[in-house]
Amino acid sequence: MLFDTTTYSIKTVQMKKILFIACVALFAFHARAEKEKHVILITIDGFRPDFYFEKEWHTPNLHKMVQEGTYAFGVNSVFPSITYPSHTTIVTGVQPVKHGIHYNSVFEPDSITGKIYWNFHEITAPTLWQAVTNLGLKASSINWPASAEAPVRYNIPDMGGRRDDMIKYAVPAGFLDTLNNQLFHRKEIADIDLGKDQNSAKIAAWVIKKDKPNFMTVHLFSVDHFEHQEGRQGKKVEEAIADADEGVGIIRQAIQEAGMTDNTLLIVTGDHGFLDVSTNIHPNVWLAKAGLLDNPNGQWKARFHSAGGSTFLFLKDKNDIETLLKVKSMLKNLPADEKKYIRVITTAEAQKIGADPNASLELSGLNGASFGNEYTGKAIRTGKGGTHGYYPDCREIQTGFICVGKSVQNHYKIKEMNLRDITAIVAQYLEIQMPTCKGKVPAGLFK
Ligand SMILES: [Zn+2]
Repeated sequence: MLFDTTTYSIKTVQMKKILFIACVALFAFHARAEKEKHVILITIDGFRPDFYFEKEWHTPNLHKMVQEGTYAFGVNSVFPSITYPSHTTIVTGVQPVKHGIHYNSVFEPDSITGKIYWNFHEITAPTLWQAVTNLGLKASSINWPASAEAPVRYNIPDMGGRRDDMIKYAVPAGFLDTLNNQLFHRKEIADIDLGKDQNSAKIAAWVIKKDKPNFMTVHLFSVDHFEHQEGRQGKKVEEAIADADEGVGIIRQAIQEAGMTDNTLLIVTGDHGFLDVSTNIHPNVWLAKAGLLDNPNGQWKARFHSAGGSTFLFLKDKNDIETLLKVKSMLKNLPADEKKYIRVITTAEAQKIGADPNASLELSGLNGASFGNEYTGKAIRTGKGGTHGYYPDCREIQTGFICVGKSVQNHYKIKEMNLRDITAIVAQYLEIQMPTCKGKVPAGLFK
């Protein structure tokens, strides 16, 4: 009897233990399921606030988001206000001086091969992709700059349209084949037109429905292309923003079909605005004339590296103060009709914005000027279309921001914010730690 009682007691204790563990596991699973959250972060390259404020643009999906969610009158970009540095700030929450992606193309002192910052490993600050993946959550990315080999489950990195590299770096292996077989049904992968934002959006929608990523970055890039061609206004810009808007609609529909509407934060933002261009300046021509740049013979003391609306001076020897003073004096003594195109950025302005510390001087264009890298021919030429890259303290270079979700204020307005704030918004919503992020969640955005 005693034996039986003991056996019974041991069995009971064991059963209770098993039950307790099962209950804890069930509770934990339930709590996690309840906490399951998603952020779908879309950038429209060259996205401007007027695309969702002005009725002239055919953007019904963006207008709907403005009605339902929170939006900004303007978002400050980084310097230079160009695609790769801006996108990297969005996923790191820090300025280029911290994340290391200073330009789209790498400054190459002795050879110009056109190397672009394609690879995730070139980013020198922690990213949202890492923070999400490290927690065992799911991250994915489509067309994002500097994302090749990023720690995500599905990825087609931005490789400047080079299909071989896209296929090589696509994750999982054979992803483009899978997409072609299941989504596009083209003869070859090369026939998938990723120049149309709707197609990129269809890929994002496919991933959302298949994998329900907790964090997804999607870069729609065709609007930028046509703003470069036509400037801020133009028929092709109109068509491109309408196409991107349709892409936003496709992604929103996928969020709904995946049953994620109630626990998803959908953000549509951009990387920079745009300015119209009427003049193209090649300051390397001035350096060549001053005997500081003899490009054909590989001899140089100073060289400008263009970022479209701005240009950055590199010295062969960073401590060559004599050459720097010569360049400064040369710029100061330009005739008035040339000088009017140039704004010399002060050291304080460059430091404040977190620009490349390896550059010795920066110029930002004025009065419709953009910059090029030529060192022969005329220094001042007729320009056309539009560009960006300018010091980001004017309205036109600001980008836009709209977000919707159950926890977001309805029809709430943010006067001004910064690209790095987007990182903070994503981190707060997903409840992940990004201690290096310098951005702030705009007051009043969340309910
Ligand atoms: Zn861009």
